[in-house]
Amino acid sequence: MFIVFLGPPGVGKGTQSRRLVNELGVPHISTGDMLRRAKAADSPVLAEAVRSMEAGQLVSDEVVLNLVNARLQQPDCSPGALFDGFPRTRVQAEGLDRLLAHRHTPLDLVLELYGDEQELMQRMLRRATVEQRADDQRETIQQRMRVYRQQTEPLVQYYQQRGLLERIDAMGTQDEVFQRIMGAVERHR
Ligand code: AMP
Repeated sequence: MFIVFLGPPGVGKGTQSRRLVNELGVPHISTGDMLRRAKAADSPVLAEAVRSMEAGQLVSDEVVLNLVNARLQQPDCSPGALFDGFPRTRVQAEGLDRLLAHRHTPLDLVLELYGDEQELMQRMLRRATVEQRADDQRETIQQRMRVYRQQTEPLVQYYQQRGLLERIDAMGTQDEVFQRIMGAVERHR
């Protein structure tokens, strides 16, 4: 199964998607993790990407699509994959459609996790204190929320029109949210 996880920063995409990949036995493709790992690499393109991340801006579509394209060619992706934090723009969504069409493995499901924005802000501020993530400072968090609303939220409609979207209430315990996710996955299997 090829699944996309959509949702604003702090909604729990990372935690829930790691649980789901364990359950489904497909790789977890988090472009945020890939970009954070790429930090160490010494290339001007990646240096620019790191600057965008630290400012709470999106990394260029081209960089992200190249990373995903390379990852999808690895053999562990043949049974499917779970995309976490990707796509984030219309260009990326269309790019993903092309990559998957080329492999004859269309997208099966898009899970949109949604929650109260104020609550999500509080969650992220707590996480910033624990993990000391540079991109989780208050202004950056607000910036990331704005970017989500402007650039990523329109994808909800893009996928809804194609009948791929399942909306998941992400407020509740981790177990409750995971049960809702599994319910949606079962309906699309
Ligand atoms: P995440 O861990 O998914 O919240 O991503 C952290 C940061 O990495 C984001 O705020 C962006 O700067 C960058 N990033 C991750 N995924 C993408 C993507 N699909 N497109 C553009 N930028 C991304």
